Amino acid sequence: MTVAVVSVSKYKSKSEELFERAKKVIPGGVNSPVRAFEPHPFFTKSAKGSKITDEDGRIYTDYCMAYGSLIFGHSHPEVIEAIRQQLEAGSLYGTPTQKEVELAELITKTVSCMQMVRLANSGAEATMHAIRTARAFTRRDKIVKFEGCYHGAHDYVLVQAGSGATTFGTATSAGIPEDTIKNTIVLPFNDVEALEDAITRHAREVAAVIIEPVMGNAGLILPSDGYLHTVRRITEEKGIVLIFDEVITGFRLALGGAQQLFGIMPDMACLSKILGGGFPLAAFGGKREIMENISPRGKVYQAGTYSGNPISVTAALTTLKLLERRADRIYSGLADLGLRMSKGLKDLISDRGVGAQVNSLSSMFQIFFTDKRVVDYASAKTSDTKKFLTYFKHLLDQGVFVPPSQFETCFISAAHAPEDVDATLDSMDSALSKLR
Ligand SMILES: *Cc1c(COP(=O)(O)O)cnc(C)c1O
Repeated sequence: MTVAVVSVSKYKSKSEELFERAKKVIPGGVNSPVRAFEPHPFFTKSAKGSKITDEDGRIYTDYCMAYGSLIFGHSHPEVIEAIRQQLEAGSLYGTPTQKEVELAELITKTVSCMQMVRLANSGAEATMHAIRTARAFTRRDKIVKFEGCYHGAHDYVLVQAGSGATTFGTATSAGIPEDTIKNTIVLPFNDVEALEDAITRHAREVAAVIIEPVMGNAGLILPSDGYLHTVRRITEEKGIVLIFDEVITGFRLALGGAQQLFGIMPDMACLSKILGGGFPLAAFGGKREIMENISPRGKVYQAGTYSGNPISVTAALTTLKLLERRADRIYSGLADLGLRMSKGLKDLISDRGVGAQVNSLSSMFQIFFTDKRVVDYASAKTSDTKKFLTYFKHLLDQGVFVPPSQFETCFISAAHAPEDVDATLDSMDSALSKLR
């Protein structure tokens, strides 16, 4: 009997083929830059719970979770069933619906700074409109943002913005007029003195300070003790609108987000990722006196054809109700899994003598390949991104999918089991063993 010997490398995987086709018709082959990695990303066919399956039939344990969107994991059956029922009744009306009112009531009940809320379709839209509203309210133009904080891909905030921008070395995007960003003051995170200086110099010009209360777009970076309270005090003293960008932290760190966890009341907040329950939806909101400036009640124009569409709203309503009903169990469970992961990873690092740091908070974590403690963008940037990519690829080979950038955050969902975490730690150990 003869056995045909063929070189495996002659055969392209389906993902490889799809990436080649994609690159011809989609810039870089992807619809959001961070999804691209060398030699090619895997193309997903389906996903369920904590697992994602690619076009070649490989299964991965997923710690990207659509960049933190899927707190219940992929395809939660109750969300899918609610969507199925809503589809029978139509997907887009161009008129208000009862469910929008219910969702707004639920959001304002859970997120304490939001006395009123407006729905939009993406996190970028939410921050853009929150900033416009704050400018109208204060009648000032300048905003303060922090190095490495990402608030979406729009002009005013695409300045030293972390994640995709950091990975691809375009701290400021091409195509943004200097005139646009001259009103954006960029400061280091966790640096009270820098903030006090800037605010003293520009007090009467600054409309808003926008901040990720816990940074998730330059890797994971935590606020130092008391920092957020100081930011709140300084902005309050000067009549500056404090906007918490809770697009990642909202419904993740607690039902009421980072503002609940840290006990701080910002003036406005932005929500999106988890809020959408796997569908495109965002929200911005805040104090009544600020939000009442929005059209048609006030003079700030903000609109969207798909805003508040019944499909996304149904997904959001179902997700938030599930979270609310089981909040105690869900958030303590996520914290336990997060601790199991971060503690395990720290042990591996010290056992293997790898120069790396782990930052973690509840279900969020990231490893940084640096000897420095990572407390801001500058220290995050000391990381060895080559090492990270080697680590990333070894994990991928073993069926573990973490976001393909040193400057992203890993997320655990309620669909992950302790066994998932333990198996992943074994894979991480093997990946780290290849790095020395
Ligand atoms: C993802 C993200 C955004 C942008 O949301 P999109 O829906 O991608 O526009 C804004 N702010 C933060 C903190 C984010 O993580």
